[in-house]
Formats: sequence, structure tokens, C-alpha cells
Amino acid sequence: MTATPTVGVLALQGDTAEHLRVLGDLGVPAEPVLRPEDLDRVDGLILPGGESTTMSKLAVRYDLLEPLRKHIGEGMPAYGTCAGMILLADRILDGAADQETVGGLDMTVRRNAFGRQSESFEAGIDIEGVDGAPFEAVFIRAPWVESVGERVRVLGQTPYGERAGRIVAVRQGGLLATSFHPELTGDPRIHRLFVDMVKGQA
Ligand code: GLN
Repeated sequence: MTATPTVGVLALQGDTAEHLRVLGDLGVPAEPVLRPEDLDRVDGLILPGGESTTMSKLAVRYDLLEPLRKHIGEGMPAYGTCAGMILLADRILDGAADQETVGGLDMTVRRNAFGRQSESFEAGIDIEGVDGAPFEAVFIRAPWVESVGERVRVLGQTPYGERAGRIVAVRQGGLLATSFHPELTGDPRIHRLFVDMVKGQA
């Protein structure tokens, strides 16, 4: 696909509006996704940050969990940020007892790994595939990636201090995930990378 794709943003809960705004600023057609049939109209999907336990429950209630698994399993490109990263993980640690994930990314993600809301922080992260200065990343009760399968490429890790060396950006084929919130900082480089992935150009 080389034409401008349509990118969906999962609209169960969380930062849906912020992602739609960034995509709009990039001139990329974008739509909220709330019903199974919405998935048929989009070429790629962003799963936003928010609260993964709530999103998991709502995905079941809206009959979206299986359609999400099907589309992503069949190769729909997807980008999960923060809670969305948790949703794309094949395995999670410190999840709620009945917490479901969509899965797709062969990794184990630890929820709330960087601590509580008050321990939210920002850090400059070098991300493979994102040219220029380190990406100023905002972490809000963020997960980290505890381990990855061999098909997963680590794109970024935390740089310094006691949190150094934690995996916070990964890619496996058409699936991308970051622990942080790129929709909050006005830097569209990761959204651009994902749109290029959806176009089959990255
Ligand atoms: N801690 C949240 C969760 O487990 C994620 C936080 C976020 O998306 N900013 O879902």
C-alpha cells in the first residue's frame, strides 16, 4: 500500500482524541474504532494509553476483543502506547486477575513497572528508526518490557539512573509498542514511523 492509509484509534478509553489530533496534524485520515465493523475501514490501528484493565473489560463488553485478535493476528499493523503496549503483549506481569490482552507481540510486559503516578517522569530516548534528537518521552505509570522473544526488535531503552536499560520501545513486523505517550509532547516522529509502517514503507 502506498496511498495515504486510514489509521484507526481504539476508542474504548484513554488518549484516543490526542492520537486522532496528531494524525490529523500529519494529514493522515484517522477514525475512532469502537465497533467490530470499524476495524474493516482502517488499514492500521493505534491502541492508546489509559488504563489497560478498563480497556480489557470494555473490549469484552463491546465484543471487540476477538475481532481485535483476528485483525491483528491476520497482519493489521498496530501501535500500542503505554496501556496499549500492555494490550499488545502476549504475556503480562502484575495484571489484574481477569485481565485479557489482544496479544500479537511476543513479549512479557510488566504493568506499572516504573512505579506510581507520582513517579511519572520524562526522559530523552534514542529510538531506532527515528532520526534526529532523542525522543522526549513522557512516562505515566508506565509499563516496561521485561523480556522479548527472538522475533522482537528492541528499538529503545531508558538511558540513565536507576531506571537505566529498561526496554521501552519494540517492534515485531507490523507491530510497534512504546511504554510512553508520544501523543502528549507535540513530536510526531513516532506517529510518522507508524504511518510509514502501515504504508509498507518502514
Ligand atoms: N498503568 C496503566 C495500565 O496498567 C497504564 C498507564 C498509561 O497508559 N499511562 O493500564
